[in-house]
Amino acid sequence: MNPLPRSKPGRCWLVGAGPGDPELLTLKAVKAIRQATVLLVDDLVSDAVLDVALKGRKRRPRIVQVGKRGGCASTPQAFIERLMIGEARRGERVVRLKGGDPFVFGRGGEEAEHLRAAGIEVEVVNGITSGLAAATGLGVPLTHRAHAHGVIFVTGHAREGGVELDWATLGAAAAQGLTLVIYMGVAQAERLQAGLLRTLPAHTPAAAVQHASLPQQRQVVTTLGELPATLREQGIGSPAILIVGDVLRGAAALATREDEQRHAA
Ligand code: SAH
Repeated sequence: MNPLPRSKPGRCWLVGAGPGDPELLTLKAVKAIRQATVLLVDDLVSDAVLDVALKGRKRRPRIVQVGKRGGCASTPQAFIERLMIGEARRGERVVRLKGGDPFVFGRGGEEAEHLRAAGIEVEVVNGITSGLAAATGLGVPLTHRAHAHGVIFVTGHAREGGVELDWATLGAAAAQGLTLVIYMGVAQAERLQAGLLRTLPAHTPAAAVQHASLPQQRQVVTTLGELPATLREQGIGSPAILIVGDVLRGAAALATREDEQRHAA
């Protein structure tokens, strides 16, 4: 691997830490983390990722927890950006480590814009987004030649960026064979379900995967009609990905078989 270029004053990296399993870090992410002198770490970044990426490094970077772990509430975005700009201008190699991919619902886009506007060079390093890890955790593909011709990555968070999504339209897209991968949707499951049920049958397969790729991963495979009740009963909370679509039929069959085997045992 070529070494990363030496940092000129005014440079920082937005790095995707992947879904949690350190083996899913990219080589480029590890390289960026190891050369950091200041490391700003988001909530969703697992401790295992930091341990692996910094293993054997003689001088540890200054680590700033900018998620909820660092204080009682998440650090305000404007404060984080000011900190990054200040440190980068002092010549520090500033790495902002984000869960999954920095450009998938990670506010990486806004951050990159603000930093560049302040004259800071920004390099972005992809990470494996949790939606991909969730599907793999269930053992299902997101596309399938027979019944899924595309994927929609969508936020379930109400009014993200001021826009209220039309879930009936998204349901219609799923009915055409597009798999829905919903981030930040657990707390809103009932609202999303109500919209989707306007265009999708209640028996449409639906699943949730919490802590995808981590040892504590938990998943449920159910139907759209049963989704909110199943999440409540099984105590599935954030961070979790919801998946809706026919690609889950294989996973549903698997879950039923496992259930039958458990009952037979
Ligand atoms: N940039 C991140 C997404 C940040 S938004 C990425 O690419 O994955 C935060 C949401 O991501 C959470 O509410 C949850 O829906 C999802 N998420 C992040 N890590 C997760 C994980 N390990 N398992 C399941 N969902 C996860």
